[in-house]
Amino acid sequence: MTEPLDRAAAAHQAEYDPAVIERKWQDRWDANGTNRTDLASGVRPFYALMMFPYPSAEGLHVGNLFAFTGNDIYGRFQRLQGHTVFEPIGFDAFGIHSENFALKVGTHPADLIPRNIDNFRRQLKAAGLMVDWQHELSTTDPAYYKWTQWLFLQLYKRGLAYRKRAAVNWCPNDKTVLANEQVIAGECERCGAKVEQRFLEQWFFRITDYAGRLLANLDWLDWSESTKLAQRNWIGRSDGAEVSFRVQDLEELVGTATIAHGATGEFPTEPTDITVFTTRPDTIFGATYLVLAPEHPLVDALTTDEQRQDVADYKRRTAKQDIVSRKVNKDKTGVFTGAFATNPATGRPIPIWIADYVLMEYGTGAIMAVPGHDERDFEFAKEFDLPIPRVVAGSGVNVHAPLEAPYTDTADARLVNSGEFTGLPVDEGKRRITAWLAERGHARAVVNYRLHDWCISRQRYWGPPIPIIYCDNCGTVPVPEADLPVELPYVEDFKPDDTGVSPLARVESWYRVACPLCAGQARRETDVSDTFLDSAWYFLRYPSTDFADVPFDPELTEKWLPVTSYIGGNEHAVLHLLYSRFVTMVLHDAGQLSFEEPYERFRAHGMIVREGAKMSKSRGNVVNPDEYVERWGADTFRTYLMYLGPYEEGGDFRDQSVVGVRRFLDRLWASAIDAASDGAPEPAVMRKLHQTIRKVSTDIPALSYNTAIAAMMEYMNVVRRGERVSHRDEVEPLVQLVSPFAPHLAEELWERLGHDGSIFDAGWPTFDAALAAEDLVTLAVQVNGKMRGTVQVPNGSGQEAALEAALAEPAIAKFVPAAPRKVIFVPGRLLNLVV
Ligand SMILES: [Zn+2]
Ligand SMILES: [Zn+2]
Repeated sequence: MTEPLDRAAAAHQAEYDPAVIERKWQDRWDANGTNRTDLASGVRPFYALMMFPYPSAEGLHVGNLFAFTGNDIYGRFQRLQGHTVFEPIGFDAFGIHSENFALKVGTHPADLIPRNIDNFRRQLKAAGLMVDWQHELSTTDPAYYKWTQWLFLQLYKRGLAYRKRAAVNWCPNDKTVLANEQVIAGECERCGAKVEQRFLEQWFFRITDYAGRLLANLDWLDWSESTKLAQRNWIGRSDGAEVSFRVQDLEELVGTATIAHGATGEFPTEPTDITVFTTRPDTIFGATYLVLAPEHPLVDALTTDEQRQDVADYKRRTAKQDIVSRKVNKDKTGVFTGAFATNPATGRPIPIWIADYVLMEYGTGAIMAVPGHDERDFEFAKEFDLPIPRVVAGSGVNVHAPLEAPYTDTADARLVNSGEFTGLPVDEGKRRITAWLAERGHARAVVNYRLHDWCISRQRYWGPPIPIIYCDNCGTVPVPEADLPVELPYVEDFKPDDTGVSPLARVESWYRVACPLCAGQARRETDVSDTFLDSAWYFLRYPSTDFADVPFDPELTEKWLPVTSYIGGNEHAVLHLLYSRFVTMVLHDAGQLSFEEPYERFRAHGMIVREGAKMSKSRGNVVNPDEYVERWGADTFRTYLMYLGPYEEGGDFRDQSVVGVRRFLDRLWASAIDAASDGAPEPAVMRKLHQTIRKVSTDIPALSYNTAIAAMMEYMNVVRRGERVSHRDEVEPLVQLVSPFAPHLAEELWERLGHDGSIFDAGWPTFDAALAAEDLVTLAVQVNGKMRGTVQVPNGSGQEAALEAALAEPAIAKFVPAAPRKVIFVPGRLLNLVV
């Protein structure tokens, strides 16, 4: 009975069989707690965070694995450098993706999600990640979202959570509000339906209060430049002025009695100002009309009877559009309100219009239109035949000629037709005109941001209920912290409908509740919070998953945070990454955290495509990690993914290229198994080894994984040159170098080389600079038989390298006016050129 087993063992000894050794080491890691982090007493803490996945029913996407493997290599490398590394993972399992899928397949998300998570966990374990599974979390776990709700209350307490009726993007298909970022070219990012506009009472977070800080800190954060740029643009600081335009009394202006006002709005009897924000106060002499957002609160009051019907029709049409298409709309439309305001610079009356290209969500919901120097205002003025004066010009321009196109250049431009400011450069004009208007009470200098407050209400089912209670006596009452979590009830019918209210509003037994203050009958908020709130703080929870009584333990948090390294996709540059910075700042200000930035270092990884095409279900070209792990082994798949291209740029997945990486690991295996222990290693091989150690040690921290792998492959070729038998000292350090990429293989070979314990506790090979240095030889260089100098070249250099080195010496090159007719080369000694 023992003989076949021995034979199997012998065969296993000779052949690299990933299926066997990967299972063996995953079990071993579990049993020995190899990947468990000693959070309390670990030394040199290194928190290697990756963006946690949404556990879809399709299973782990190869893009996830690409991201996670890159993080895992970095984390393993840091551990080999002597850090205690914490590499946790969890599941971002709330939200509309899960809910929509549950609706599609007719399964409740509460039943579906645990199954998906089980599948993800299996796949992640099979990939050999150094994850500490004891700290796994899911945002759908009441023990987690209790603290998501707590976070809402902290913001509420600090006056940073507020409720207002707001125009929102509404997807008629998903029946939910969408953030602006989720509307792509007027369509729902998820389902492609044309997005509409609705008005709903919504909860918002005042992230705009933090705009200045969020922007300023980007200057010192060690983040990918592309990510910082995306955040800067998103926050969108602009310096300018708020300028007030006094609305003219209509009766006085028009002097007729025909202007009577209807029931919807009385013409203001008090003097009324319309305030606009502008980044170009220098152009105010060219402001020939005002435009209000159709939703602007003054519109009804300003509108004359003659214009009332047109204005009402236009407002109705606008309400059907989403906010994003309104911004990018090519066709300019609008309606005159019948009212006028005074331009405070010229003193002249200018008409007040409404148009959909002005949004209530930005600035003050009103603009001064300067058609001569603004693209959209120019198109609008052309469309409606409004005057287009020029007030800025470059040198040599005829300032009286009509403008054929808006003039938006400001460099070297000066003000023209601008009263006493004519002739000033633009920047000085801005300052002087703002000061002049301010003196007369018409303006103030302000900084404005493109960023708007974060709408966190979702009229859906699958999320944490917002912890607020409405009482007729007491008004809006936060749920007492002691009553958290407000658990999401199991509701059979969780399908959203067209009413715009959450499915929870149909569950009376749940939303009827006693008021925490007066015990009278009250009603729960039935909206749930945005998924991005779940993920805005998950990195704080990981080290503290063992604690039920606090969201994050102060001591562990102080020790492990901020996150040392965060790796993820740039698709989250302006949502998740901005929201989590905001939340961290708020908790810092509340005295809960000692730091105000959550991630010390962030690197955005690239995207992978397949055979040059984007991977998508509809194309049918999605790589299923399971198939590849099964066929080639996780180590080969991991290494191949990292070999595709520069990690921060991504690469092109090609099936036929996997085999090359597998061949490399096969050869490494064979070399280690067959390595000789007696005798001495070959000096030339050792020199290459130390050069390889140096290269891999600098490439990994730079996330230059593909070049590190290429260097190891090159070294492998040197080791195996001429099918020579390798020496143990030549191979063992390579096993260490490859360990972050191919952890199972490395552990197995490490054990077979006679070591106890995990290779990941054995440190990193050091390189010897002297050994790594190339041997140089000195060549005598003759031209037409005459000695003209010497050059140094690496030992073993060929004729071409020698010639190149010789011609790079000016003292020699001056005797070689043209390409030599003949070259005589004696390796290591002499180069003779015949010219
Ligand atoms: Zn949709
Ligand atoms: Zn009450």
